[in-house]
Amino acid sequence: MIDRSRVTKVSDEQSGSWTRSGGSYQLVFDLGHQIKDKPPVIAVDEIVKIMLRSHEPGLTLPSVRVSGRMRRTLGSYTPTKKLISISSRLLALGNDGDIREVVLHEVAHAIVHSRWGERPTAHGKEFRSVCQEIGAKPRRYVDVSTDDWDSRIRYLSKCESCHVSIVRKRRMKSVRCACGTKLYPESWFTVAPDQEGAADEWVRI
Ligand SMILES: [Zn+2]
Ligand SMILES: [Zn+2]
Repeated sequence: MIDRSRVTKVSDEQSGSWTRSGGSYQLVFDLGHQIKDKPPVIAVDEIVKIMLRSHEPGLTLPSVRVSGRMRRTLGSYTPTKKLISISSRLLALGNDGDIREVVLHEVAHAIVHSRWGERPTAHGKEFRSVCQEIGAKPRRYVDVSTDDWDSRIRYLSKCESCHVSIVRKRRMKSVRCACGTKLYPESWFTVAPDQEGAADEWVRI
């Protein structure tokens, strides 16, 4: 079991800020929600590593890039950088099977490029044969149901006075914090529940 109190404390020290209160300065901690910058990629890096070890040992790829910009695209492979990118939304909101299917699809592109260079067409016979070899669906698209994603996405802002995180279903023009302060947030972070964290922890997507 993870010692949550210790994890929280480390994070508090990092996010603490000095605020002037009356005549003295006071250290203010965010004791509210923790927020991660992006979903972790350790699990997907592991899938890539295992696949390459058994099917293309000569090829090494850098760590998977998490992209917050991908909306309709869930994954991509950039041959010039040998880089697999995966949508942060997929990592935060997709199920393990969907994530694995998208990662395998991009690994197949990487292997095709490693074996045949630029010659094959994107989803041609070489691609389909590699998919069969590594256990990916030999298709142009990966079917991922994103129907419930929107309903699970939240928006997060910080209170200017007490520094706690405020999480809402919509980006609102104004919001009242529990401390009584009325806020007019200029921007909201788009977040999803942190699947590895506690119930009220969030990850940016
Ligand atoms: Zn493709
Ligand atoms: Zn407040």
